[in-house]
Amino acid sequence: MGKIISIANQKGGVGKTTSSVNLSACLASLGNRVLLVDTDPQGNATSGVGVNKADVSQCIYNILVEDATAEEVIVHSEMEQLDIIPATIQLAGAEIELVPIISREIRLKSAIEAVKDQYDFIIIDCPPSLGLLTINALTASDTVMIPVQCEYYALEGLSQLLNTIRLVQKHLNQQLMIEGVLLTMLDARTNLGIQVIEEVKKYFQDKVYQTIIPRNVRLGEAPSHGLPIISYDPKSRGAEVYLDLAKEVMANGERVR
Ligand code: ADP
Ligand code: MG
Repeated sequence: MGKIISIANQKGGVGKTTSSVNLSACLASLGNRVLLVDTDPQGNATSGVGVNKADVSQCIYNILVEDATAEEVIVHSEMEQLDIIPATIQLAGAEIELVPIISREIRLKSAIEAVKDQYDFIIIDCPPSLGLLTINALTASDTVMIPVQCEYYALEGLSQLLNTIRLVQKHLNQQLMIEGVLLTMLDARTNLGIQVIEEVKKYFQDKVYQTIIPRNVRLGEAPSHGLPIISYDPKSRGAEVYLDLAKEVMANGERVR
């Protein structure tokens, strides 16, 4: 049965989408059947795996607000073993449209349950907010991965995220666990990066992944080609580190479930 991992942090630009796309693609390249779920109205994970949003007839909006099934909405990516539930800008209204809907927090969970057995991993890319879209993702998940950018104020805002996780655990999904904290965009030339790593490790201890994602130009370029890093530049440092992360996540499989 597939393990469901949300990649969440209400801060924008911390590497949620980059990590969702590249972790998914690397897990797929290592032989896993993977479903990537885009819950951000910007749809960057969708275009990041080469799906043209203009060609998408139904997206996650139709699952959350209407009654579409996951099967109806899933699109196959260019990569064998990697499917996606796409998001388009239509999703922008969902946060408000969901408010009066019955069971509004468990819409995604119910839809994904029907296809869970077909995948080894289901990776959910969350939007930069703690609203109903992120709540749906956390409610549907076994674990949550928190990307933290190696910059000043790295820990700022994390208490709100942890509080939301606790509320979801209390009221909606008792099983939810923290998968791990992923340090991203490290600039190894600065001392600041090293300080941030120490600070985050002091706070989260063994929850921090050994793999640290450095700043890598190729990682920034890949999305404009609609390709995950392992297809765009398999020899790059970016491809190497996301493969390492995928292996760590696979090894974590049974421990954090
Ligand atoms: P989020 O989804 O949290 O908003 P993104 O993954 O979209 O963050 O990353 C924000 C921007 O930084 C994007 O333009 C992305 O291409 C770039 N980026 C992310 N990770 C890296 C990295 N390790 N090295 C270089 N650029 C990166
Ligand atoms: Mg994003």
